[in-house]
Amino acid sequence: MARGTANFSSGSAKALIRLEPADVPRIQIDNFRCGREQCHVRFQAWSIMHVEISVALDRMKAIRCPKCKTNNVLLGEGRTLSEDRADRDAYFQGEREPGLTSRKNWWLEFGEKGSSSKFLFNMLSEIPDIRLAVPSDASDFRRCVLLLDLIPEWRDKLELRMAKAPDPWPELARNWDSLERTLRKESPDLDFFKDKPTSFGGMLQIVISSKKQ
Ligand SMILES: [Zn+2]
Repeated sequence: MARGTANFSSGSAKALIRLEPADVPRIQIDNFRCGREQCHVRFQAWSIMHVEISVALDRMKAIRCPKCKTNNVLLGEGRTLSEDRADRDAYFQGEREPGLTSRKNWWLEFGEKGSSSKFLFNMLSEIPDIRLAVPSDASDFRRCVLLLDLIPEWRDKLELRMAKAPDPWPELARNWDSLERTLRKESPDLDFFKDKPTSFGGMLQIVISSKKQ
């Protein structure tokens, strides 16, 4: 499926191929992105859930980019920072300072979500029902950065609040600024089609593994 150079797969990929024979097959609309250079269009397509893995994979293989018709498609939107901001601007239509609740609702409905950014969102929103997830690569971290770009006032309480989360979140939060600086130096617009954030990946692994001994 993901034969492009960028990896945008999120938590929904795992849900898609999970075999749940007790359930009836279900159609789910997922976000995809064309993996072909010069196209990279974002689009939605339906997938099937709760079926044999081979059936779900056949459906995945049949998904084509609506613009260039390639089957080189990536699960997830892979939004760049400027695309995410443009999406928000289009939604809020020039509203100068949308309130926190409006922005949170926007994220819940339209934000690009993965399991680690959902965890971050829930911790910072003080939502008690939390399934632990940690950013394991640049794309996971990118989704967390998009969230903090939407809700910048959360940056101030990031370290304090995430200190209460399981490892390695406290360590991640303590090093957040330098991690983000490193990522944005390697990919200023978080455009992983264009850039390969290699130093960032190494740095993230160091921070995460520092709490595993
Ligand atoms: Zn295309």
